[in-house]
Amino acid sequence: MKDIKIATFGSHTALQILKGAKDEGFKTIAICEKGKTSPYKIFNVADEIIEISKFSEFEKYEQMLIKKNAIIIPHGSFVSYYNLDKLKKSKIPYYGCKNILKWESDRNLERQWLLKAGIKLPKVFESPDNVDSPVIVKEYGAKGGSGYFLAQNKKDFEEKIKTKKIAKYQIQEFIVGTPVYIHYFYSPLDDKLEIMSMDKRYESNADALGRISFSDQKNMDIATSYTVVGNFPIVVRESLLHEIIRMGENVIKASKEIEFPRGTWGPFCLETILTDKLEFYVFEISARIVAGTNPFINGSSYSYLNYDVPMSTGRRIARDIKKAIELNRLKEIVE
Ligand code: AMP
Repeated sequence: MKDIKIATFGSHTALQILKGAKDEGFKTIAICEKGKTSPYKIFNVADEIIEISKFSEFEKYEQMLIKKNAIIIPHGSFVSYYNLDKLKKSKIPYYGCKNILKWESDRNLERQWLLKAGIKLPKVFESPDNVDSPVIVKEYGAKGGSGYFLAQNKKDFEEKIKTKKIAKYQIQEFIVGTPVYIHYFYSPLDDKLEIMSMDKRYESNADALGRISFSDQKNMDIATSYTVVGNFPIVVRESLLHEIIRMGENVIKASKEIEFPRGTWGPFCLETILTDKLEFYVFEISARIVAGTNPFINGSSYSYLNYDVPMSTGRRIARDIKKAIELNRLKEIVE
């Protein structure tokens, strides 16, 4: 246990995961695709860089990492290349609950989990005939909102869907409000929920539309898209924290029912729209570290309340592993 190394794919949130692991005293490994090593070199966060041809071929390198005593930290790029089936077969020690990925990656299972947690969700229209309000149409498997489109009503939906090549989609009520992405952390070692930080995304072209007057937009035929290009920090009105904590605690409680008995642990994120009635609608959950934690490599206003050192979500993961090693409870958080 003494020589445990922290490893992750060189992408997504690897800088904070590796920097955080070093700050907690671990040696680190960045697994990079060929030619994509430069961020991990110039920021000097990796003790070792392993170049592989493609992330999807990671299986071939597993044994080598097991020999090096590595624990792999999953993030967005990792779970998109390494699906649940592969993950279950894999023998490399993995930080987090593997099975929970099944719940977050299926829109129907995700809804069941959130409803169990007593969370408000945008309405889903099972049939286009029932559409009676503005909707957002989400292609299954769309990434970063690029396969989405908006429709004002049923007629608008029917006209637009004809022009798209989308086989499977979900029609969701479009909630008017501001997006708030809440980053939580839950450790079973002390059975405690933490709020690490919050962000909103910087999205192209949605965030560009306010820079073009309506009269210009009218003639430009722009379809709204939500391609994420970065993230901004948010601090919410303090009175909203009651509801934020309630939602986070309920998500953990419900996870222990759906994945009995341990549920999920580590970082997770609720992606919400906050309306002018100050009601949160959750449209997605991610049961892992999200890229919205990247503005907080040196901590957030919230993490500062709990820690006297800069505590990113990446570092918080390493601290969880360190504490589990000290308490001889690593098996509870690494699968
Ligand atoms: P996603 O890629 O699923 O995280 O979502 C991309 C964008 O769509 C985000 O900016 C969200 O704010 C927006 N969005 C997703 N679902 C809804 C919804 N039901 N109502 C309003 N906006 C939404």
